[in-house]
Amino acid sequence: MFTKVSKSVYCRIGEKGDSNNGFILCNDFSVFVDTATYPDQTKRDLEDMKKVTDKKVKFLINTHYHPDHTFGNMYFLDIIAHAACRTTLKERIPFYKEEVQKEERFKNLKIKLPNIVFTENMMLMHTPKIELTHFGGHTEGSITVYVPEEKVLFSGDLLFAGYHLYLGDADIQEWTDALETILQWDIKKIIPGHGEICDKKEIKKHIDYLKTFYQNLKDMKKRHSKEDILKNTDLLELPEMDGENRIVRNIEAQYDKA
Ligand SMILES: [Zn+2]
Repeated sequence: MFTKVSKSVYCRIGEKGDSNNGFILCNDFSVFVDTATYPDQTKRDLEDMKKVTDKKVKFLINTHYHPDHTFGNMYFLDIIAHAACRTTLKERIPFYKEEVQKEERFKNLKIKLPNIVFTENMMLMHTPKIELTHFGGHTEGSITVYVPEEKVLFSGDLLFAGYHLYLGDADIQEWTDALETILQWDIKKIIPGHGEICDKKEIKKHIDYLKTFYQNLKDMKKRHSKEDILKNTDLLELPEMDGENRIVRNIEAQYDKA
């Protein structure tokens, strides 16, 4: 079900840290932001949207290429994303096809690529206006979706409110810079990629998390082997978080970069 966030913005918060998505009601149509992991959930989301409005969906925006935000793309006609989001999703199709065979719920999945791409930023000049900004950081093509008139931001996976961040494809410096920039924006409510609706306080926590991870990993590398750090992830002194512990995968992805 969707929760009303502001005058025109609605969101669905995924269970137990699953991905979030939502839509923005413009004058003549609605604009969806991200899909759920499972196509059947996206189908349900489209039904749930009809309980709120009779406006038709004009666009879907993908905040980045990860499956938990794009695997419902098949139900949309026009999909907007950063060019790198499209490129990476396309490259990963063979890998994802292998992976999804294991699960019955992906039986009808068709991986659909964004068909409207941009390389810097993009504005949808409707009412309300929607600003798409390219930051990278979490993935190369990560963008945010901002509705300035209502001071609402869809951050995509630049924010995992209350959960461990996923750093598997990340550029930590770029990510931190992105959050420092967003911190200057006029924002009242944020729909994070994962976790509950939040505000700028959460951005500060994420900056601290990223800095702690990077600095402590760098320090630990001087004194411990990669294997030792992987075995004892407490060495990184990261805050306690709910849900999936992604620290081992994050160390594996970031060890050589720290
Ligand atoms: Zn995600």
